[in-house]
Amino acid sequence: MPVFWNWEMVLACNFRCSYCNYTCLGWERHHAMNVFPGLARLSEVWSRIQDLYGTVHIELSGGECTSYPGWEGVINMLVGIHTVSLDTNLSLDAERFAKLVKLERVRISASFHPQFSDFDSFLRKCLTLKERRVSDLFINYVAYPDQLAEMARYKKAFNEHGIRFYVQPFQGVYRKCSVYPESYTEAELGLIEEALALGGPDADISRGRFQWKGSAMRTGTEEQLRKIQEERGTHLAPPLVATTPKRPPVHCHMGHYYAKTYVNGDTYRCCAKPTKERPAELLSEKLYLGNLFLDDDLKLLEAPAACDYEPCPCDRCMVVGQETRWLDRWCAPDLTLSNDEGEHR
Ligand code: SF4
Ligand code: SF4
Repeated sequence: MPVFWNWEMVLACNFRCSYCNYTCLGWERHHAMNVFPGLARLSEVWSRIQDLYGTVHIELSGGECTSYPGWEGVINMLVGIHTVSLDTNLSLDAERFAKLVKLERVRISASFHPQFSDFDSFLRKCLTLKERRVSDLFINYVAYPDQLAEMARYKKAFNEHGIRFYVQPFQGVYRKCSVYPESYTEAELGLIEEALALGGPDADISRGRFQWKGSAMRTGTEEQLRKIQEERGTHLAPPLVATTPKRPPVHCHMGHYYAKTYVNGDTYRCCAKPTKERPAELLSEKLYLGNLFLDDDLKLLEAPAACDYEPCPCDRCMVVGQETRWLDRWCAPDLTLSNDEGEHR
């Protein structure tokens, strides 16, 4: 298994999906957080990582990755050194992208957002990328109440083309008054079940996402969440803004086989970050590894380390002893199958 490195590269997007956390909180306030070190520095940084850990698998996320300034130069540099997963709304030009990079070193996690994408042209782009032998391509879809009715039809259509369709529970404030996933109605759960009953490994993983109790991430402002939390406080519902105490530590490979870098270069073991409720000094092990863009001595942990962060935000967390849950959820292009000297389409 290679090292996996998530780089949340840019907080900008050409879409404005209503269930997106950045849309809810306001894109403008996030734009100022972006740091663009320039292609030459990025090339130094990722070459240093290669010297330390060999070819790593970089999971690019955002925002929309293709909004990164000088995007084509950056992706070309990254794919030349490492392998890449690209989290994208697929508004890119598929033919052009296929000519730009070695697709056998790229996985595409294509998020289908019917509020902004037309199904037929989205599917056509997926098929173009598959025809050009992208290493892997699969769909992510948010089970937002307003877009459940068509979900089973979409899953069926993608599956018929051999494309996995993962359903992500909506986690956030809906129409300013209810909070999901707790508020799914019977009818909405029926539509979700209709899609998942179509089966396949994608349905199994999607079910697991609905059952994962760890994530406390919610789309919506903290004020909205607190207000709704207060309103339902008398119903003894679980808190929406996490205040839970520490749990007994587990040993986790995140930070050892994984790192997460934010737009400003700050790099952590995983998605868990110190918060007001859980300041760094209350955590038994450090989460912060350094700044990827600034610290030329930034390194991963040398071994799995203890963690008592509660609740763990990741349903793929690499807890020692629980490998059957997570090991086959970490996938990278198999370079032994690709000819590196091969055709650069
Ligand atoms: S495409 Fe993704 S990043 Fe952009 S608005 Fe939609 S959910 Fe947010
Ligand atoms: S157990 Fe969860 S919170 Fe702790 S290091 Fe692993 S992924 Fe992060």
